[in-house]
Amino acid sequence: MPEAPKLPHDLSNPMNDYSLTQKNKNKLQFIEDVTSNPDQVQQRVLSEILTQNAAVEYLNRHGLSGPTDRDMFKKLIPVITYDDLQPDITRIANGDKSHILSSRPISEFLTSSGTSGGERKLMPTTEDELERRSLLYSLLMPVMSQFVPGLDKGKGMYFLFIKSESKTPGGLVARPVLTSYYKSSHFKQRPYDPYTNYTSPNETILCPDSYQSMYSQMLCGLCLNKEVLRVGAVFASGFIRAIRFLEKNWSDLCHDIRTGVLNPVVTDPSVREAVMRVLKPDPKLADFIEFECSKKSWQGIITRVWPNTKYIDVIVTGTMSQYIPTLDYYGNGLPLVCTMYASSECYFGVNLNPLCKPSEVSYTLIPTMGYFEFLPVHRNNGVTSSISMPKSLNEKEQQELVDLADVKLGQEYELVVTTYAGLYRYRVGDVLRVAGFKNKAPQFNFICRKNVALSIDSDKTDEVELHKAVENAVTHLMPFDVTLTEYTSFADTTTIPGHYVIFWELSLNEATPIPPSVFEDCCLAIEESLNSVYRQGRASDKSIGPLEIKIVENGTFDKLMDYAISLGASINQYKTPRCVKFAPIVELLNSRVVSNYFSPKCPKWVPGHKQWGNVN
Ligand code: AMP
Repeated sequence: MPEAPKLPHDLSNPMNDYSLTQKNKNKLQFIEDVTSNPDQVQQRVLSEILTQNAAVEYLNRHGLSGPTDRDMFKKLIPVITYDDLQPDITRIANGDKSHILSSRPISEFLTSSGTSGGERKLMPTTEDELERRSLLYSLLMPVMSQFVPGLDKGKGMYFLFIKSESKTPGGLVARPVLTSYYKSSHFKQRPYDPYTNYTSPNETILCPDSYQSMYSQMLCGLCLNKEVLRVGAVFASGFIRAIRFLEKNWSDLCHDIRTGVLNPVVTDPSVREAVMRVLKPDPKLADFIEFECSKKSWQGIITRVWPNTKYIDVIVTGTMSQYIPTLDYYGNGLPLVCTMYASSECYFGVNLNPLCKPSEVSYTLIPTMGYFEFLPVHRNNGVTSSISMPKSLNEKEQQELVDLADVKLGQEYELVVTTYAGLYRYRVGDVLRVAGFKNKAPQFNFICRKNVALSIDSDKTDEVELHKAVENAVTHLMPFDVTLTEYTSFADTTTIPGHYVIFWELSLNEATPIPPSVFEDCCLAIEESLNSVYRQGRASDKSIGPLEIKIVENGTFDKLMDYAISLGASINQYKTPRCVKFAPIVELLNSRVVSNYFSPKCPKWVPGHKQWGNVN
């Protein structure tokens, strides 16, 4: 029987080529629309936020009530940091359900990787924010498909993980924003879409045990290797950890592929079941992977094991740029694609030119996501002052804030956000530079996060915290008649996972030798004093390696000063940098190391905030 003639497009398939193209067009048109008149969109967003939240206590407390306009909002509402908000957050965490920040119920807290008083910041959120986040995600693949066609014909191998969650004394869940998203129906029950077709079954992503999660995601990624068109993780550090995992475990993984039997280390029944839907005995594939992984060099391992990969999707802007050389090595120069810029407070924007070089990445803020303002950053000698914590703005500084549509090309700004969920003129702490425009909407390079000295994964350690931690550690040296003359630090990402290195110069009394265990105790004391995001990375996620103290020869820090002066630093104003990044300086320090010590164990970490006690 002759086949029925095919319709030009199969309308019975919800995601055929025609409807996909149409959907992509709609999303790109949305971007065109909102970037063509960003100021009107921003005005509407602010008006919606203020109308919806007109009766909330916070706005009323500052003199706003009832309908209002942008000028009045700016006049009355102060620009704030997390510490200003802490008393309100504490009330919500303790169960106060009155409309303090938002007229909609606070559905949960998102635990930011930024900290306050050593603990994660708690960002209030509401149900409807999930839709806004989903919208931003839905823009990414239509943008990408303009540059790399055919991505709907295969899978993405993304290593995605959930983190532990806790409950506030008032019963609200507190967890990272991605954990919240992966556990939501927006992710779990997403309708079939070729762009969210991942090698990792949901169950493997939602597995709370990070080892089982990684093992099963890697195994599925290997089983489906030919179908993989793109690979990634959220941050570069996470993707490199996955490759490192393969380096350590390929033999076990190949055994599973050869036999079709899943390793008993994966004990979670739902994960086992999901993996068994993918895993079939395939000795040929096992031989191939074994052959590639047992080669001495791992250069290009990604293109070798997943030969159809077109790009690596990871954030390498900001501190993550330290991982670019490693990714280039494993990926043999595959494009590194940074698709989006987002935070617990608000999802901000997308990269409309995703195949550009990492150093040129700029993000277009999507004006419907929140109301954005920009505080001009004045650099001091080319360096933002970093030891001081953000201070309150005086009246003049408050007036310097400009709207999204008014930022100037080349100027740097600190991002200030007002959200539907109840943050008003909140300083995110990120410094952005205007790199260009999409229609009338500015595009920003991510410059840095303020006050971050050291970062390996999502940890953000500032100089003040580091200084206190070093002071605590030095007490271990007291019995030995020794003083710490100088110190500095370095985020060493040449190890996987990366780790903090602290360089110490000591003035020693040679008569009393110091046993290595004392320095090891110092390493641990520093780690115990650092914030909870750092300790979680060390103890739970294993995304940060043991902290190392390197003792340098006497006179090393004088050499460091000589070097800085030779580069043009002023001798009167020279201060020892508390964190170094510049390769020649790191080399200088490393060349004068006399001994080194590592933290002997993980620092303590428990989920939740220390003031909540054991509420889990
Ligand atoms: P969190 O609040 O833990 O979700 O972290 C959000 C922060 O991560 C942002 O404020 C930025 O400092 C950083 N971040 C997020 N996306 C990017 C990106 N694309 N490039 C550089 N830094 C980013």
